Amino acid sequence: YVNAVDGLTEDVKIPSPKHILWKVELVDRVFDDVNRATYPNPLSLKPNTPTSWFVDDDDLVAAKVNVAASDTDLDKGIKAEAYTLAGPRFDIAFDPKQCKAAVVTCGGLCPGLNTVVREIVMCLRRQYGVSTTYGIPSGYRGFKDPTTWIPLDEKVVRNFHNMGGSFLGSSRGGHDTKAIVDSLEKEGINLLFVTGGDGTVRGAALIADEVRNRGLEIAVAVIPKTIDNDIPLIDRTFGFESAVNAARQAIDVAVTEAEGFPYGLGIVKVMGRHSGFIAMHSTLGSRVVDLCLVPEVDFYLDGEGGIVDHLADRLLENGNAIVVVAEGAGQELMATMGSHGADEVDLSGNKLLDDVGPWLVKQLKPRLNEKLKGKTPYDDGVTCKYVDPSYMVRGIPPTTADNLFCTQLAHNAVHGAMAGMTSFLVGSVNTRECYLPIRLVANKQNVIDTAHQSLWEYVVFDTQQPSFAVENDCRDENDIITTASGGVIFRNSDDECSI
Ligand code: ATP
Ligand code: MG
Repeated sequence: YVNAVDGLTEDVKIPSPKHILWKVELVDRVFDDVNRATYPNPLSLKPNTPTSWFVDDDDLVAAKVNVAASDTDLDKGIKAEAYTLAGPRFDIAFDPKQCKAAVVTCGGLCPGLNTVVREIVMCLRRQYGVSTTYGIPSGYRGFKDPTTWIPLDEKVVRNFHNMGGSFLGSSRGGHDTKAIVDSLEKEGINLLFVTGGDGTVRGAALIADEVRNRGLEIAVAVIPKTIDNDIPLIDRTFGFESAVNAARQAIDVAVTEAEGFPYGLGIVKVMGRHSGFIAMHSTLGSRVVDLCLVPEVDFYLDGEGGIVDHLADRLLENGNAIVVVAEGAGQELMATMGSHGADEVDLSGNKLLDDVGPWLVKQLKPRLNEKLKGKTPYDDGVTCKYVDPSYMVRGIPPTTADNLFCTQLAHNAVHGAMAGMTSFLVGSVNTRECYLPIRLVANKQNVIDTAHQSLWEYVVFDTQQPSFAVENDCRDENDIITTASGGVIFRNSDDECSI
């Protein structure tokens, strides 16, 4: 139980926030039984290492603590979900001298992959004295032939943090669980570090299961990589900040182009297959965007509240307009309007998307020309400038903040694996690094929460675009009742506020 130090005293429903107890409950335990051996952590044997640097397995990080107090019996306290705090353990499960590690990067490229590899090698060597780490080339495919594995030491990885892409290479498809575990077993690997996106995480879970079934002493740790930031439960993923910065530069270019021509319309397509976080964050970062389209929000072109009217208004008002569109936006609309609706999949089985950028250009240009007819001095319609930064966003070196973040994730992955944990991923929850069982996040997606108060609200305010909210979800004037005390009550709600 943890005492809330203090709370907002404005809320009349919480008479004395100081006395509320928060019961913190571990959501799900990471497997920590790769073997039963115990060795002292070499870090603990170094002079001048404070014991307070070490983390106890009972140290937890609370998440989702903002539960409604009114729903809870205050005497019993308020429950909060919690996760295992990451960090070095006092005792570890492997003899570092006998350890052999392997690291692999899978899926699409992302700024920071090389930093993760660098820091895994550095932490293993410098903090634990593990001298053998192999880099597996070309993603999961590379496990097959151990003669191609790349020995990594401090010299090889020293400048990795300045490089974009993946030194080891990556790939899609080619996951063969049994063959991978055969190779790990044959080569005597006992620490496996995997970095990749949702598909990679599913693949890592299968490897960990196979390892357990065979009774092997191999820890499987995942450092989640998704430039789209679409992994649930965790605050953010590495590379995301770098990608948002690069997307912002593309928006700046589109602004320059749109401002350079009469009634210039700049359209920028950014990454985001299922989640529009890059589009949302780069829109808010630049503050010059008139329309932000994301996969989470269905939109329409024509009629009241459609994007054509909105853009026509902005063009007439400002002389130019900027659209940021995530690659996964508008897929259903495109299909209903006769765009071919891609059935193809890539080597990993991911559905190929219809290209929303050129489609938007094609749809918007004639419609806006029609809207602007007779209302502009030259009457030659809009000038459309389409910017697809694509690999300019993926292939760049990480920002300073991402380099630091990758370092924290990689070191904590090493600490967890050395402590004998397996089938886990490392990620920050409420700003603290945690170990989460893979099964908690596999097959789930983090999307922008447009239904509740979130950054999306700022996007709608900043761009002044239609919210495209479903009508029933919104409050209308009939829902407001004025009370005798001069306040207003909203129907279906106990909230009261003064006007
Ligand atoms: P991103 O989508 O961010 O680029 P990702 O990890 O999702 O990254 P994928 O190409 O989907 O990229 O998958 C990467 C690797 O994981 C591939 O080698 C693929 O074969 C493997 N993989 C994907 N899904 C599964 C699955 N369900 N089971 C086993 N392996 C999988
Ligand atoms: Mg993926």
